[in-house]
Amino acid sequence: MKISHLFVESSVAENPLVAKFATQLSLPAVTVEDHKTLFEMIKSEEDPWLAGKKVILLTRNHGPFLRQCPGTRDYICCNYRILNIGSYCVMDCAYCILQSYFHPPMLQYFVNHDDLWQELDKALSGSEGFRVGTGEFTDSLIWEPWSDLTPRLVNYFARQQRSVLELKTKTTTISQLKNLDHRRKTILSWSLNTPRIIATQERGTSTLSARLRAAAQCQSWGYPLAFHFDPMVIYPGCEQEYAQVIKELFNQLDAENIVWISMGTFRFMPALKSTIQKRFPQSEIIYGEFVPGMDGKMRYFKPIRTRLYRQMAEWIRERAEQVTLYLCMEDEQVWEQSFGFTPESKGGLPAMLDRSARTHCNLCG
Ligand code: SF4
Repeated sequence: MKISHLFVESSVAENPLVAKFATQLSLPAVTVEDHKTLFEMIKSEEDPWLAGKKVILLTRNHGPFLRQCPGTRDYICCNYRILNIGSYCVMDCAYCILQSYFHPPMLQYFVNHDDLWQELDKALSGSEGFRVGTGEFTDSLIWEPWSDLTPRLVNYFARQQRSVLELKTKTTTISQLKNLDHRRKTILSWSLNTPRIIATQERGTSTLSARLRAAAQCQSWGYPLAFHFDPMVIYPGCEQEYAQVIKELFNQLDAENIVWISMGTFRFMPALKSTIQKRFPQSEIIYGEFVPGMDGKMRYFKPIRTRLYRQMAEWIRERAEQVTLYLCMEDEQVWEQSFGFTPESKGGLPAMLDRSARTHCNLCG
């Protein structure tokens, strides 16, 4: 996606990152006093979701940088911390929840990093450890061409004894990660899907083989890895294709270097349906048989989800018996029927993930 305009909120106009973005993008940084006019401009476009991917607003994070992943009380949550570095994405996945999350959706990057470091210092100085990720409201690595925040974060987390950073991406922009003294405190993670779903539903993302190659490169630089099969889409023949992805994954990567693998099937708020219909008329992902879940999101029937999770778990276990597997936003019954145990029986999902992070990332007990 080519960026066509760069805007900067007046209160951060002097921030050194503004010049860096402007130089790298070869665009003037236009100062705006308030966001309203800009938001109205995006909203008036025929496809505001696409228009918002071509405009960057450099701004201040007016809320906290670090926050607890919202999860839902009805599903088992992993107690993750989101580091909110910016919002939205230059890639364009049909199912992307961010399309209905921001009004309007627009690339925003927070440049008040002094506040970010202060917050992190405060949060991580206690005895509690955190799993922190930047890839919830944006892709972790899309900002690499313009910002040096990622290497700074990797260096910062290298000094932590109890907390880890997870960078979650569908890109291959990993060059800034080379030669960093990361001390295995940063986990590089990729969302994976079948080549068919990537080609038809994930516009502008890298191919499966490119993602696995980038993961192998990071592994060779000593980074621990993680993978997220989310959202898995159910279609005729999907089982064989997901099985093939797992085969390729373990052909190229060390099972012992994988901190965790998560799975989640496609789910969506009803409001997203019309956006997908409008923006991705060829997409068939919303036409399966869905039922409303406890959080109001539409999901595949439980037995259908469970069957796929169970198969995936078997294929993964054949090649990586010990790897930590977890389900994103599912209940105890689905866990039991998919894996044969509930997180509760292993001390809870946060404890399961903390244990794996401790083992793979050299954290203190
Ligand atoms: S890569 Fe992630 S954040 Fe970007 S469009 Fe796809 S789902 Fe959304």
